[in-house]
Amino acid sequence: MAYDDSNIFARILRGEIPCDKVFEDDHVLAFRDINPQAPVHVLVIPKGPYRSWTEFSATASDGEIAALVRAVGKVAADLGVVEQGYRVLSNIGADGGQEVPHLHLHLFGGRRLGRMIAAD
Ligand code: 5GP
Repeated sequence: MAYDDSNIFARILRGEIPCDKVFEDDHVLAFRDINPQAPVHVLVIPKGPYRSWTEFSATASDGEIAALVRAVGKVAADLGVVEQGYRVLSNIGADGGQEVPHLHLHLFGGRRLGRMIAAD
């Protein structure tokens, strides 16, 4: 299946839709989730057209992969959640519950986050 460049994050990357940006470099954009599930809820995305971790891990350059990983660490530090702790999560595909078909890492923090996944 080809990358769908009409997805909402592709539109944010092209500047067609605004976002509350917290970090950007050559390979990565990070912005606050429009429907936050925690006091800190940021989406960290690669700028390249990757749908999933599967594609990203197999085909992205080392520079893109390093940039995404480093961006998560920098955003966590910049937003002040390192000391109390935080959670990084990526929903992949149907069973993972992925809604937007552009790879994104959720970074949650600012409160006790509870169970890792729902019990059922
Ligand atoms: P997923 O379920 O695919 O892992 O997560 C998609 C996330 O994107 C959801 O948490 C949702 O609130 C967020 N989202 C959807 N549309 C927009 C938007 O237009 N702007 C922002 N900032 N977040 C969005």
